[in-house]
Amino acid sequence: MLDAEFFRRWMTATAASVDREAERLTALDSPIGDADHGSNLQRGFKSVIAALEKEAPQTPGAVLTLSGRQLISTVGGASGPLYGTLLRRTGKALGDAAEVDEGQLAEALRAGVDAVMALGGAAPGDKTMIDALVPAVDALDDGFPAARSAAEQGALATTPLQARKGRASYLGERSVGHQDPGATSSALLIAALAEAAGE
Ligand code: ADP
Ligand code: MG
Repeated sequence: MLDAEFFRRWMTATAASVDREAERLTALDSPIGDADHGSNLQRGFKSVIAALEKEAPQTPGAVLTLSGRQLISTVGGASGPLYGTLLRRTGKALGDAAEVDEGQLAEALRAGVDAVMALGGAAPGDKTMIDALVPAVDALDDGFPAARSAAEQGALATTPLQARKGRASYLGERSVGHQDPGATSSALLIAALAEAAGE
């Protein structure tokens, strides 16, 4: 079973890997964006960790809803509201249970990813974070490592795509040949899930 401590570890591991990879995320956001994705998420997850320490939420759902709220209030740009919605909606779907199993987490994350698609209007193949998140959720029934591989593959597979949503879409065909920064950070988020599980 997964308790609040597991979800705290997930957020901590995400913050650490966003920190480590911030320059790469910003570099990916340079040719097809405005070179701020790494710094956006670094600022956001830093404030997530500070809020988790200060407020010490006691359930999985509360850890994620607080984290989502922090991202929305501290990250400007497209990715803040989108990642914030992902975590808030996932947290809401977990309700106030003290522990959840992997199946419940998979179902809740599915609701979170659906909410991101509803908010941003992106579908798979549009060269966004959705291209990592949807395959990850699809693979989650096979465990965290399977979800991590699926997200990484999904992020790599954005390179030949033309962007149809977000800033990169303004470039039209010139967005082809670059890996999407948001899909790349989503792969980090899913990898952190496996890390939190010790897998
Ligand atoms: P901004 O584009 O406002 O500078 P970021 O650089 O932080 O924001 O995030 C860019 C990432 O956000 C993109 O790489 C893409 O994955 C994701 N993104 C942008 N628009 C959308 C959308 N409508 N739906 C899903 N993801 C999106
Ligand atoms: Mg940007």
